[in-house]
Amino acid sequence: MEQTLLILKPDATMRRGVGAAVFEQILNALPDAKLKGFLEIAVPSHLAEKHYAVHEGKFFYPWLLQFIQVGNVLATVLEGEDIVARLREVLGATFVEKASPDSLRGKYGIVGGVNVAHASDEPANAEKEIALWQKEAQLDLSQDGFEAINAYIAKWLETPIVATEQIRQICQDYAREYLNRDIYQSEITELLIEECPDWMEAELSTLANAILGNMDLDRDSDR
Ligand code: ADP
Ligand code: MG
Repeated sequence: MEQTLLILKPDATMRRGVGAAVFEQILNALPDAKLKGFLEIAVPSHLAEKHYAVHEGKFFYPWLLQFIQVGNVLATVLEGEDIVARLREVLGATFVEKASPDSLRGKYGIVGGVNVAHASDEPANAEKEIALWQKEAQLDLSQDGFEAINAYIAKWLETPIVATEQIRQICQDYAREYLNRDIYQSEITELLIEECPDWMEAELSTLANAILGNMDLDRDSDR
C-alpha cells in the first residue's frame, strides 16, 4: 500500500492551533488513511540537508534549511490508496498565494514558501524520505500514529488562530519597501505570541525572521 511522509513545518507547529487544525482537516479529508508513527523533533542540520538534498544549489535552499530548523517539526506517515497525490491535493499548491483558499496552505500558510507542511511529491520519493526519517529521526512506523495525533488535536485545537491575515498584511507592507526589517520582525513576533503559547519570544522572533527571509528571496526572484 502506498505511503507518504507528512511533516508539519515550524510555522504550523509553533502556531499550535494551526498544527491541530491541519491534522484534523487531513484526517477528515482522508478518512481511510492509516497513520504510522508520530514524532515531534528539532531537525538536526544533517537531516535537513538530506531531506532537502533535491533542492541543493537552488537559491532558496539555504533559507529552506534555516526555516525547517526554526522550531520543532511534527512527522508522520500516511498510508492509503493514491495517498501521495491525495495528501498534496489537501495541502494545496506550493506557494501560499497560489494555493486554493480551501486548501490547508491557502488557509493557514503565511506567505510564499512559509507553507505549513511538507508532503512527498511522488511514491518513489516518499519511500526514500520515509527510510531517511526512520534512520535519522527514529520515526517508528510500528507505532500507531492515530492516537497520538488525536491527542495532539484535542490538546491544541482551541488555541486561537487569529493572526494569519495580519501577518500576511505585514509581509505585504514589508515587500513594498524592504526597509525597517527589525520593526516588521517585532510586529510579526508580537502577533505570534498570541498564537504560540509554549514558545519563548526569542524563538518566535526567529520564526518571524524566517518569514521575512522568504520575502527577501522573493525580492530577488521572479516567483
Ligand atoms: P513542495 O513543498 O510543494 O513539494 P518544493 O519541493 O518545490 O515544493 O519546494 C520545497 C519547499 O521549498 C517549498 O515547500 C517551500 O517552502 C520552499 N520553496 C520552494 N520554492 C521556493 C521559492 N521559489 N521561494 C521560496 N521558497 C521556496
Ligand atoms: Mg517537494
